Amino acid sequence: MIIGVPKESYPGERRVALVPVVIANLTKAGFEVIIETGAGSEAGYPDTHYTEKGAKILPGRAEVFRQADIVVQVLCYGSNDVTGKADLALMRRGQFLCGFLRPLGSVEVLQQIATTGVTSFAVELMPRTTRAQSMDALSSMATLCGYKAVLLAAVTLPKIFPMLTTAAGTITPTRVFVIGAGVAGLQAIATARRLGAVVSAYDMRPAAKEQVQSLGGRFVELSIEAKDAQDARGYGTAQDESFYARQRELLARAVAENDVVITTAVVPGKKAPVLITADMVKQMAPGSVIVDLAAERGGNCELTRAGEVVNADGVTIMGRINLASQVPYHASQMYARNLTAFLTYLAKDGKLQVNANDEIVRETLLTSAGEIVNARVREFFRLPALAVTSQ
Ligand code: NAD
Repeated sequence: MIIGVPKESYPGERRVALVPVVIANLTKAGFEVIIETGAGSEAGYPDTHYTEKGAKILPGRAEVFRQADIVVQVLCYGSNDVTGKADLALMRRGQFLCGFLRPLGSVEVLQQIATTGVTSFAVELMPRTTRAQSMDALSSMATLCGYKAVLLAAVTLPKIFPMLTTAAGTITPTRVFVIGAGVAGLQAIATARRLGAVVSAYDMRPAAKEQVQSLGGRFVELSIEAKDAQDARGYGTAQDESFYARQRELLARAVAENDVVITTAVVPGKKAPVLITADMVKQMAPGSVIVDLAAERGGNCELTRAGEVVNADGVTIMGRINLASQVPYHASQMYARNLTAFLTYLAKDGKLQVNANDEIVRETLLTSAGEIVNARVREFFRLPALAVTSQ
């Protein structure tokens, strides 16, 4: 089977779905790889690096879609809501598609993808199990976002992070507060610590406490307990508005006491909860920085504007989106390894086996033969269960 890699088309996207180093593994598993010319150049992987590893370079996007049995992308239509729609006309029945598809986004968009007849796999739906860990692209990207968020804060804050004892006196360390200690939050804690900041963090999942502490962060306890804070997949759950109101009240002091606040609190398929109000921002010292990693999902700060940097009462609120694309070399490398682990897991004699009895296949398979077939997605959008595929 031929795996095709089109150039990413989302504006500003610099990642690429496969990097040269994984081609040997894919070839060994019986695949051939074709790459649209220039697909890797913005991530630091020129065409020649691919051809040296045995991949073929094709001049145009349509040709890649035409020849490929399996199309792999970072942002497929669905997560690419700006230019992704143009790919629909290039997809065909029976072709495989794999990438970020935003499976809990818009049911109309998913239906359009299904109608092309492609067999699509959404990497966001990868189960959070030990077996699937090497295929977990969501974790890979979240790790990089957490890292990059701290660097953004560090260059924006009018202070340095570490404590310094100098002839000119002592500089006290920057205080960083991380709200949401999932994959991105934990990486933010580790990165801020490495830069010398004093770090504290909060998550509504009690299990996060130990992880925060193991990274040298102080866990901020709030006198409020979430109901069923964690679902079976390990994700935080949606709470009612009175819970969020109480959280805001209790978080106000911690927010005001810190120079940098990094927020990552999201719930799959839901708008992010507002945990920092405009009033809470007012209480922060001038020059403070908020990096809102939930910006794309509505933001954890009331003042966040997705994709923008806002200044309010001397506080900078950064709502940058698609941060992993800002470190495209390693983001592509990690993503390519995740995809390769997934594709080689599904491959038998160079062909993809779609065995719906396999948990990884069942959970990630989104559309097939014209239908949205994923049971979790169908349930989320209240579509009637499908007799065959939802078993
Ligand atoms: P996420 O990106 O969905 O959410 C980020 C964090 O925000 C979560 O920790 C969540 O609890 C928190 N959050 C949500 N609402 C909140 C609120 N109102 N107040 C405070 N915090 C709130 O999460 P994620 O980073 O994808 O990780 C989710 C879980 O999955 C974690 O437990 C993580 O350790 C686990 N995980 C397991 C594996 C694996 O076993 N292979 C891989 C990746 C992640």
